[in-house]
Amino acid sequence: MGTTSAGAKQGKLNYKLFWTWDHSTNWVLNTIGKQNCGVANHYTKRPDTFVRDYLRVVDWSAANGIDAIGIVGLLRDSHGGFDSARRICAYARERGVRIYLIAGLYAYGGIYYEGDSPLSLDRFLANNPDCMGQALDASPQYINFRFPYGYKKEPVACPSNRKVRNFVLDSLDYLFMVIPELGGIQMEAGDSFQCLCERCRARRADMHGGEKRLPAFSFSDMADIYPAAAEVVWSRSPDAWVICETYTHYINNSVFSDVTSPALQAMLKMPDQTFWQWGDRSFGQRVWTEADRLPEPLRRFRHVMRAHHSTQWDGGRGTLAVENIRQQCRLSYAAGIQGVSMFGETSPFHANTEFNYLALQYFADHPMDSVHSFAEQVMAPRLGGTALAERYLELGVLAKTPEKIPSAVREIAKIISGVTDDDALRRWNYLASFLNSYYWESVQGQKA
Ligand SMILES: [Zn+2]
Repeated sequence: MGTTSAGAKQGKLNYKLFWTWDHSTNWVLNTIGKQNCGVANHYTKRPDTFVRDYLRVVDWSAANGIDAIGIVGLLRDSHGGFDSARRICAYARERGVRIYLIAGLYAYGGIYYEGDSPLSLDRFLANNPDCMGQALDASPQYINFRFPYGYKKEPVACPSNRKVRNFVLDSLDYLFMVIPELGGIQMEAGDSFQCLCERCRARRADMHGGEKRLPAFSFSDMADIYPAAAEVVWSRSPDAWVICETYTHYINNSVFSDVTSPALQAMLKMPDQTFWQWGDRSFGQRVWTEADRLPEPLRRFRHVMRAHHSTQWDGGRGTLAVENIRQQCRLSYAAGIQGVSMFGETSPFHANTEFNYLALQYFADHPMDSVHSFAEQVMAPRLGGTALAERYLELGVLAKTPEKIPSAVREIAKIISGVTDDDALRRWNYLASFLNSYYWESVQGQKA
């Protein structure tokens, strides 16, 4: 019996996940070196702030129903490598929360994101140039991350190379041996390149993974390594979560229901406990509706729908995203998906973020409920009553209409004069300051 039917009986989503980069996760306030965006950035805070940030994410997750926290850049020399990672993983396990590594198997530095480690893909490729991914003219491939989306020129590996495959599988084996408390892995096969060497092109043609010229990721590459990688992980850590990133939504490619595809057949050999992870950005293609259930062959697996609410990618950091989170949970539930994921990089000191996180928990538990129910059940006790909670939802989205902000701030000042609870005061003060920052910018922008 798969988890889908068990989930349906309870009428809820079973898994809530936070997705994070190490360099832009800021839960300790008033530290130096904070960043608010990026991919492939330097880590710019003091080394010990990394552990302090994530212990706070774990504490909040344990108290508020978040099951697992994914970290890109978990392993870096600049914040303590294996020792720091293990400390965070063990602390989380003791509190019933999982830390899972988010890692590119052929890109993004591999298992050890940055530093002088035998598990560093960058180091491996520097020592083994014959393992580099190739362009059509056989020149070695790099991903050029450009500011503000990172700074590195990072080498990528050829997925058809046997030495690369052995390196990836050995790295995973070593990782789960030295950090037994690690809760799992979100695996990726690379979303910014496809190796175009002869062997890769021939293999993809054989596997029929539904590849298109763009976007630059390959389901055949995923299907070629995910099953073997999962086996290595489970041989060390039988309860680990193995999350297979797809970089897309199943509505975007018919390969996910094409059982004649050797790529899909390879993935279908994986055990039911495997997670498939989808993204809710439909890449300019058709829009996801409640009628778009999971493809039939995939229904026995576990699934996570990942979203980018309130980040550099969607809306801006700190924006209120309650309605979008409601839709993410409702559509996931209707589709037969059991888990939802969103960015967890921002401290819940920021009240909009706090309500976004609480919305993920609430709508995962009550996927068919309305925003009004959320306001009544969750926001009202934190803001001074249901009417005020409804008002917060209306005022909280005014960042894009700065001309309405001055009167909103005056209204919030009146509300504050009647609020006695310290945490409720923090939330209203935060909202006034958040909106004022957008008003200020609109005025400065006119001068410029
Ligand atoms: Zn290749």
